[in-house]
Amino acid sequence: MDHSDYVIDEMISAKSIAARVEELAREIHAHFADTDKLVVVGLLRGSFVFIADLVRELDLPVEVDFLEASSYGNAMESSREVRILKDLRGEIGGRDVLVVEDIVDTGFTLAHVVKLLRSREPKRLEVCALLDKPSRREVEIKATWTGFEIPDAFVVGYGIDYAQRNRNLPHIGKVRRKA
Ligand code: 5GP
Repeated sequence: MDHSDYVIDEMISAKSIAARVEELAREIHAHFADTDKLVVVGLLRGSFVFIADLVRELDLPVEVDFLEASSYGNAMESSREVRILKDLRGEIGGRDVLVVEDIVDTGFTLAHVVKLLRSREPKRLEVCALLDKPSRREVEIKATWTGFEIPDAFVVGYGIDYAQRNRNLPHIGKVRRKA
């Protein structure tokens, strides 16, 4: 991977992200206002910046846990195999759970993770995704709360990588190959 052959055009500014995170936190707070404990589950690695900002806007008793899933395309069957690379440390049975995802693209990853976590019988389970690319969807699934709907473009920044780089960009940018 050569990181010198592309440029990143800003798509969503750090300021817009911060304003939207505040709004999302308000809605999540209203939904879970009566919770005795909210387990915030971050899907690694792309959600780590989003989750850090989101939990600091949530004035609720929260615990933070992480899960890492990886999806592999299978062009022949137009299906995906989703594997759990790192499972949660804690139990979620009978708990309030908020799954935090960076991007919902085809939907395979989120659908698999939600099915797995629901099988553990949480009290309530909702999903907050920073970005959604509805035009790419192959599995019918929608986050309870979405930060921004975006067109079909490859994006980086605010925790989201291109070959492990650019996660530390404070804004969301679109990758464009240099001519
Ligand atoms: P899905 O299973 O919905 O197709 O895939 C979701 C995952 O694909 C996201 O969590 C993210 O890791 C990755 N992904 C989808 N779109 C993009 C993108 O534009 N940029 C990056 N870096 N990853 C993406």
